[in-house]
Amino acid sequence: MSKLQGKTALITGGNSGIGLATAKEFLAQGADQVIITGRNQQALDLAVQELGDKAQSILCDSTQMTHIRQLAEAVKALTPSLDIIYINAGISEFAPLEHITEDHYDHVFGTNVKGVVFTVQQLLPLLNEGASIILCSTAGVQKGFPGASVYVASKAALAGFIRIWATELAGRKIRVNSISPGFTNTPLFDKVGLSEEQKQGAMELYNSKVLMGRFALPDEIAKSVTYLASNDSSYVTGTDLLVDGGYKLT
Ligand code: NDP
Repeated sequence: MSKLQGKTALITGGNSGIGLATAKEFLAQGADQVIITGRNQQALDLAVQELGDKAQSILCDSTQMTHIRQLAEAVKALTPSLDIIYINAGISEFAPLEHITEDHYDHVFGTNVKGVVFTVQQLLPLLNEGASIILCSTAGVQKGFPGASVYVASKAALAGFIRIWATELAGRKIRVNSISPGFTNTPLFDKVGLSEEQKQGAMELYNSKVLMGRFALPDEIAKSVTYLASNDSSYVTGTDLLVDGGYKLT
């Protein structure tokens, strides 16, 4: 269990769901140090407590340019360089076309697109040769489901980033890929304002649309992120890894 022996990683949105599961998996795979970021200090403290003494946190709201501009300095106070950055922080907010507001658009694109670009840009000088950058997209990019246009468009933008950044960073042997999870059982579903009944109804509907007949566990996504982070994927760059339980086939 040492795919990440000696590696130092940073995970955005690492206090919850897939990000937290990935921090656990990186440490289980021998990572030396895992830095998680998030927008809530209390949640970060709890996560670090759970992760143990090889984990540290930095408060960084991905929608705040002042936070993002300070991120590299905050990382440098903890480690001189990074081998892996997993840009996981993201939000899901839904609205059908008639109800899309400027606030909805700005919030979703601000977090899922602008936050990604400038976080990666700020961390770039800290990346070691051979580092791995992983962005978190969604299997929803492959499908149509009502109300998700702004969210899905924000994640679709990441396909452009990985393709172009892979070419721009190849000279430093830095690989850039994305992961596209299918429905995954995380606190995200508690944050979109569904009642327990609506949530159960949505889960049953989604389960019927996935060949595996169930949501993914955060840990199953974390293992695929670890593949992209490790040397197991040393010849993989500029690509998206779809981990959707067969969602695209239904
Ligand atoms: P969670 O809500 O559990 O995790 C999201 C993480 O991102 C949390 O730590 C959250 O912080 C953080 N975050 C959100 N906004 C910001 C911000 N402005 N600044 C800093 N951190 C922020 O959801 P998931 O684990 O499900 O989501 C992780 C990623 O996976 C997201 O990018 C999501 O779009 C993607 N995804 C999820 C799917 C699913 O079915 N769950 C399917 C496909 C993709 P806080 O705890 O404070 O909210």
